Amino acid sequence: MSTAPDRAQGALSYVPARGGVAALRRAAADCHGCPLYEDATQTVFGAGPAHARTVVVGEQPGDQEDREGEPFVGPAGRLLRKALAEAEIDEREVYFTNAVKHFKFAPVGEGKKRRIHKAPSLREMAACRPWLEAELHRVDPELVLILGATAGKSVLGNSFKVTESRGTLLYLPGAGLPAPAPQRQDGEGGGRGLVATVHPSAVLRSRDRAEAYRGLVSDLHVAARFLR
Ligand code: SF4
Repeated sequence: MSTAPDRAQGALSYVPARGGVAALRRAAADCHGCPLYEDATQTVFGAGPAHARTVVVGEQPGDQEDREGEPFVGPAGRLLRKALAEAEIDEREVYFTNAVKHFKFAPVGEGKKRRIHKAPSLREMAACRPWLEAELHRVDPELVLILGATAGKSVLGNSFKVTESRGTLLYLPGAGLPAPAPQRQDGEGGGRGLVATVHPSAVLRSRDRAEAYRGLVSDLHVAARFLR
Protein backbone atom coordinates (compact mmCIF):
# COMPACT_ATOMS: atom_id res chain seq x y z
CA MET A 1 0.00 0.00 0.00
CA SER A 2 1.48 3.38 -0.95
CA THR A 3 1.47 6.21 1.56
CA ALA A 4 0.94 9.86 0.67
CA PRO A 5 4.01 12.04 1.23
CA ASP A 6 3.80 14.18 4.35
CA ARG A 7 3.04 17.81 3.35
CA ALA A 8 4.61 19.02 6.63
CA GLN A 9 7.96 17.83 5.31
CA GLY A 10 7.67 19.97 2.19
CA ALA A 11 9.67 18.60 -0.70
CA LEU A 12 11.86 16.41 1.49
CA SER A 13 9.92 13.19 0.97
CA TYR A 14 10.08 13.66 -2.82
CA VAL A 15 13.87 14.07 -3.10
CA PRO A 16 15.48 10.83 -4.34
CA ALA A 17 18.40 9.57 -2.27
CA ARG A 18 20.43 8.72 -5.36
CA GLY A 19 21.14 10.07 -8.81
CA GLY A 20 22.29 13.36 -10.24
CA VAL A 21 20.33 16.44 -11.19
CA ALA A 22 18.50 14.55 -13.94
CA ALA A 23 17.04 12.22 -11.28
CA LEU A 24 16.13 15.24 -9.15
CA ARG A 25 14.41 16.92 -12.09
CA ARG A 26 12.33 13.84 -12.85
CA ALA A 27 11.25 13.50 -9.22
CA ALA A 28 10.49 17.22 -8.81
CA ALA A 29 7.98 17.04 -11.67
CA ASP A 30 5.59 15.30 -9.25
CA CYS A 31 6.31 17.37 -6.15
CA HIS A 32 3.29 18.33 -4.06
CA GLY A 33 5.36 19.52 -1.15
CA CYS A 34 3.41 22.79 -0.85
CA PRO A 35 0.26 24.18 -2.51
CA LEU A 36 2.08 26.10 -5.27
CA TYR A 37 1.89 23.19 -7.71
CA GLU A 38 -1.92 23.50 -7.78
CA ASP A 39 -2.14 26.63 -9.94
CA ALA A 40 1.17 26.54 -11.80
CA THR A 41 1.58 24.81 -15.15
CA GLN A 42 4.54 22.66 -14.17
CA THR A 43 7.63 22.36 -12.00
CA VAL A 44 10.44 24.51 -13.35
CA PHE A 45 13.54 22.74 -12.17
CA GLY A 46 17.14 23.86 -12.52
CA ALA A 47 18.90 23.51 -15.86
CA GLY A 48 22.50 23.46 -16.99
CA PRO A 49 25.57 21.24 -16.82
CA ALA A 50 25.32 18.52 -14.15
CA HIS A 51 28.65 19.66 -12.67
CA ALA A 52 28.63 23.33 -13.56
CA ARG A 53 31.26 25.63 -12.06
CA THR A 54 28.59 28.12 -11.07
CA VAL A 55 25.07 27.71 -9.73
CA VAL A 56 22.84 30.77 -10.14
CA VAL A 57 19.95 30.87 -7.65
CA GLY A 58 16.96 33.10 -8.41
CA GLU A 59 13.62 33.48 -6.67
CA GLN A 60 11.00 31.49 -8.59
CA PRO A 61 9.99 30.93 -12.21
CA GLY A 62 8.10 33.70 -13.93
CA ASP A 63 5.16 33.56 -16.31
CA GLN A 64 7.21 32.54 -19.36
CA GLU A 65 9.30 30.03 -17.41
CA ASP A 66 6.11 28.46 -16.07
CA ARG A 67 4.78 27.96 -19.60
CA GLU A 68 8.06 26.69 -21.08
CA GLY A 69 9.27 24.66 -18.09
CA GLU A 70 12.76 26.19 -18.20
CA PRO A 71 14.35 28.67 -15.79
CA PHE A 72 15.54 32.15 -16.82
CA VAL A 73 14.01 32.18 -20.30
CA GLY A 74 11.87 35.30 -19.74
CA PRO A 75 12.87 38.99 -19.88
CA ALA A 76 14.80 38.88 -16.57
CA GLY A 77 16.64 35.75 -17.70
CA ARG A 78 17.64 37.38 -20.99
CA LEU A 79 18.96 40.40 -19.11
CA LEU A 80 20.91 38.14 -16.77
CA ARG A 81 22.48 36.23 -19.66
CA LYS A 82 23.54 39.51 -21.27
CA ALA A 83 25.08 40.70 -17.97
CA LEU A 84 26.89 37.37 -17.50
CA ALA A 85 28.38 37.68 -20.97
CA GLU A 86 29.48 41.23 -20.23
CA ALA A 87 31.22 40.03 -17.07
CA GLU A 88 32.82 37.23 -19.13
CA ILE A 89 31.07 34.40 -17.30
CA ASP A 90 30.31 31.66 -19.80
CA GLU A 91 26.64 30.73 -19.39
CA ARG A 92 27.43 27.26 -20.77
CA GLU A 93 29.22 26.63 -17.46
CA VAL A 94 26.30 27.84 -15.37
CA TYR A 95 23.49 25.83 -13.78
CA PHE A 96 20.42 28.05 -13.41
CA THR A 97 17.86 27.38 -10.72
CA ASN A 98 15.42 29.04 -8.32
CA ALA A 99 14.76 28.90 -4.58
CA VAL A 100 11.14 27.92 -5.33
CA LYS A 101 10.31 25.68 -8.30
CA HIS A 102 6.69 26.60 -8.99
CA PHE A 103 5.37 29.94 -10.26
CA LYS A 104 3.35 31.83 -7.65
CA PHE A 105 1.03 34.43 -9.13
CA ALA A 106 -2.22 36.34 -8.80
CA PRO A 107 -4.62 36.37 -11.78
CA VAL A 108 -5.57 39.94 -12.75
CA GLY A 109 -7.27 41.93 -15.51
CA GLU A 110 -10.23 41.12 -17.72
CA GLY A 111 -11.14 37.48 -17.37
CA LYS A 112 -8.25 37.20 -14.91
CA LYS A 113 -6.08 36.05 -17.77
CA ARG A 114 -2.99 38.01 -16.84
CA ARG A 115 -0.79 36.52 -14.14
CA ILE A 116 1.34 38.76 -11.98
CA HIS A 117 4.16 37.49 -9.83
CA LYS A 118 3.63 37.07 -6.09
CA ALA A 119 6.56 36.58 -3.75
CA PRO A 120 6.74 33.13 -2.17
CA SER A 121 6.13 32.95 1.58
CA LEU A 122 8.75 31.80 4.07
CA ARG A 123 6.78 28.59 4.46
CA GLU A 124 6.85 27.93 0.70
CA MET A 125 10.56 28.72 0.57
CA ALA A 126 11.20 26.28 3.42
CA ALA A 127 9.05 23.62 1.75
CA CYS A 128 11.05 23.88 -1.48
CA ARG A 129 14.47 24.19 0.11
CA PRO A 130 15.27 20.43 -0.02
CA TRP A 131 15.38 20.68 -3.83
CA LEU A 132 17.89 23.52 -3.76
CA GLU A 133 19.94 21.76 -1.13
CA ALA A 134 20.01 18.60 -3.25
CA GLU A 135 20.96 20.56 -6.38
CA LEU A 136 23.88 22.23 -4.61
CA HIS A 137 25.09 18.89 -3.22
CA ARG A 138 24.91 17.13 -6.55
CA VAL A 139 26.17 19.86 -8.87
CA ASP A 140 28.87 20.75 -6.32
CA PRO A 141 29.79 24.11 -7.93
CA GLU A 142 32.79 26.29 -7.17
CA LEU A 143 30.60 29.38 -6.88
CA VAL A 144 27.01 30.11 -5.89
CA LEU A 145 25.59 33.31 -7.33
CA ILE A 146 22.61 34.59 -5.37
CA LEU A 147 20.06 36.79 -7.14
CA GLY A 148 17.96 38.87 -4.76
CA ALA A 149 16.52 38.59 -1.27
CA THR A 150 14.44 35.41 -1.63
CA ALA A 151 17.37 33.40 -2.96
CA GLY A 152 19.63 34.90 -0.30
CA LYS A 153 17.25 34.03 2.53
CA SER A 154 16.81 30.53 1.18
CA VAL A 155 20.56 29.88 1.09
CA LEU A 156 21.86 32.05 3.93
CA GLY A 157 18.94 32.42 6.34
CA ASN A 158 16.26 35.02 7.05
CA SER A 159 18.64 37.73 8.17
CA PHE A 160 20.19 38.00 4.70
CA LYS A 161 19.99 41.47 3.16
CA VAL A 162 21.04 41.83 -0.45
CA THR A 163 21.87 45.51 0.01
CA GLU A 164 24.46 44.63 2.67
CA SER A 165 25.99 41.60 0.97
CA ARG A 166 25.94 42.34 -2.75
CA GLY A 167 29.18 42.39 -4.68
CA THR A 168 31.23 40.89 -1.85
CA LEU A 169 32.99 37.56 -2.17
CA LEU A 170 31.97 35.19 0.63
CA TYR A 171 33.06 31.64 1.25
CA LEU A 172 30.78 28.81 2.24
CA PRO A 173 31.86 25.64 3.99
CA GLY A 174 30.92 22.15 2.83
CA ALA A 175 29.22 20.85 -0.26
CA GLY A 176 25.59 21.68 0.48
CA LEU A 177 23.74 24.61 1.91
CA PRO A 178 25.82 26.64 4.32
CA ALA A 179 25.30 27.63 7.89
CA PRO A 180 23.15 30.78 8.02
CA ALA A 181 26.06 33.18 8.52
CA PRO A 182 28.90 32.65 6.08
CA GLN A 183 32.40 33.61 7.07
CA ARG A 184 33.62 36.58 5.14
CA GLN A 185 37.18 36.00 4.05
CA ASP A 186 38.90 38.52 1.88
CA GLY A 187 41.78 37.11 -0.07
CA GLU A 188 42.63 33.45 0.34
CA GLY A 189 39.67 31.33 1.34
CA GLY A 190 38.53 27.75 1.46
CA GLY A 191 35.25 26.26 0.44
CA ARG A 192 32.68 27.35 -2.05
CA GLY A 193 32.55 30.97 -3.14
CA LEU A 194 29.34 32.95 -2.95
CA VAL A 195 28.46 36.30 -4.48
CA ALA A 196 25.09 37.99 -4.04
CA THR A 197 23.56 40.59 -6.30
CA VAL A 198 20.13 41.94 -7.17
CA HIS A 199 17.61 39.91 -9.12
CA PRO A 200 17.59 40.98 -12.79
CA SER A 201 13.83 41.62 -12.53
CA ALA A 202 14.69 44.40 -10.05
CA VAL A 203 16.91 45.92 -12.73
CA LEU A 204 13.99 45.80 -15.19
CA ARG A 205 11.73 47.54 -12.65
CA SER A 206 14.32 50.14 -11.69
CA ARG A 207 13.67 53.82 -12.46
CA ASP A 208 17.29 54.14 -13.56
CA ARG A 209 17.67 50.92 -15.43
CA ALA A 210 21.09 51.74 -16.90
CA GLU A 211 22.55 52.43 -13.47
CA ALA A 212 20.96 49.31 -11.96
CA TYR A 213 22.32 47.22 -14.84
CA ARG A 214 25.82 48.60 -14.31
CA GLY A 215 25.55 47.59 -10.65
CA LEU A 216 24.53 44.06 -11.62
CA VAL A 217 27.44 43.70 -14.05
CA SER A 218 29.85 45.11 -11.46
CA ASP A 219 28.76 42.44 -8.94
CA LEU A 220 29.12 39.76 -11.61
CA HIS A 221 32.70 40.89 -12.21
CA VAL A 222 33.42 39.89 -8.57
CA ALA A 223 32.11 36.42 -9.36
CA ALA A 224 34.12 36.30 -12.60
CA ARG A 225 37.37 37.15 -10.79
CA PHE A 226 36.75 34.28 -8.36
CA LEU A 227 36.27 31.86 -11.25
CA ARG A 228 39.49 32.84 -13.04
S1 SF4 B 1 7.13 24.98 -4.93
FE1 SF4 B 1 8.67 23.42 -4.42
S2 SF4 B 1 7.86 22.33 -2.59
FE2 SF4 B 1 6.15 23.50 -3.51
S3 SF4 B 1 5.17 21.96 -4.87
FE3 SF4 B 1 6.65 23.14 -6.09
S4 SF4 B 1 8.53 21.94 -6.10
FE4 SF4 B 1 7.24 21.18 -4.41
